[in-house]
Amino acid sequence: MTIRDVRPDFPVLAREVDGTKVTYLDSAATALKPRQVIDAMTRYYTEVSANIHRGKHMLSEEASDAYEMCRTRVAAFLGTRAAEVVFTANTTHALNLVATGLDLEPDDLVLVSGDAHHSLQLPLRGRATVDWIPTDASGAVDLEAYARQVERRPALVAITHCSNVTGRYAPVAEMAALAREHGALTVLDAAQSVPHRPVRVPELAVDAIAFSAHKMLGPTGIGVLTVGTALTERLRPALIGGGVVDWVDTESWVLRRPPHRFEAGTPHIAGAYGLRAAVDYLDALGMAAVAEHDAWLAEVLHTEAAKRDYLSVLAPGPGERSATLSVAVRDIPDLTEVAQSLSDSYGVMCRSGHLCAQPLVNAAAGSAVLRLSAQIYNTAEDIRTAFAALDELHPLLAGA
Ligand code: PMP
Repeated sequence: MTIRDVRPDFPVLAREVDGTKVTYLDSAATALKPRQVIDAMTRYYTEVSANIHRGKHMLSEEASDAYEMCRTRVAAFLGTRAAEVVFTANTTHALNLVATGLDLEPDDLVLVSGDAHHSLQLPLRGRATVDWIPTDASGAVDLEAYARQVERRPALVAITHCSNVTGRYAPVAEMAALAREHGALTVLDAAQSVPHRPVRVPELAVDAIAFSAHKMLGPTGIGVLTVGTALTERLRPALIGGGVVDWVDTESWVLRRPPHRFEAGTPHIAGAYGLRAAVDYLDALGMAAVAEHDAWLAEVLHTEAAKRDYLSVLAPGPGERSATLSVAVRDIPDLTEVAQSLSDSYGVMCRSGHLCAQPLVNAAAGSAVLRLSAQIYNTAEDIRTAFAALDELHPLLAGA
């Protein structure tokens, strides 16, 4: 299987808007799902449907095995152990688990990426003293200033691997090594990196990694938090109840070992079937090939944007990029109508607003931005279609 052949696997790409085929450029919000993922979930509901880890009957054992097999597959995908893979509802849930599960005091210092998604920054703000990781004039992490900052011995460093606004990657391995030297734990928001490039736990050496299945061709409602050994015993489960205890009497209870102690209640079992299929799909393509295609799409996005003087790209400087690009549009501060017209008149699906990273977007653009974000099923033609549509819309909507 090669990336050139993937488009027929994605049923949504066959849809049209008034006879115009859909051009989907909103994968940073959520990726389209291939038939293989949809079929795997349907198989669970039609052939199995039982709960996991509860019963000894055949269907329950089949579901339990499949659920744990998904954990094993995700662990192999990330180069880690299955015991370190916790299933959550999504990235937001995973990041909240870290923020609320750690014993943080209000005067503990926590360093947070300046481009952090709200789900990384908000759970930490208010629980500890937050300071922002310094960036240079182009918006890239200033490693020298950061090295001085970690000397203040933060309890935790919370890093965005890849910005959902600018598509820029952070130098995570270097940042995590510096944090570790000064005794800080690290948590990585990998929601926008795991879908686009190989992410290997041993290479990054962070203590926790959070991401969502739905951005990596999988279903909504299931995500992952990897929890390394330095963190696992220090993390309190956010929820307790069924599935997380080995022993209960009227006085006390004994928590199960990780990862199960962090997975209270019936999980998204069909989601695990779908996530496993998504990992299998990406693995069959090869994440190196996925990353190569992504870098090429990023190049096309930036080249097309740079040709247009009515667009200002957020953080256009050098550095590694994912195929996610945000632009401010001259004379159009509110881009809702642009996004709507792109959809309804041209079939181009993209996103406008502050992209759940409002401090960054406000500082960089002063208003809303328009985001185009691509995935393996996108082509250079998709991107050119979007920019050609923008060329037509801009004079009609600017100052209107
Ligand atoms: N972090 C980043 C960088 C994201 O792009 C997103 C989704 N936009 C999230 C966190 C939150 O993901 P979810 O909504 O799946 O919890």
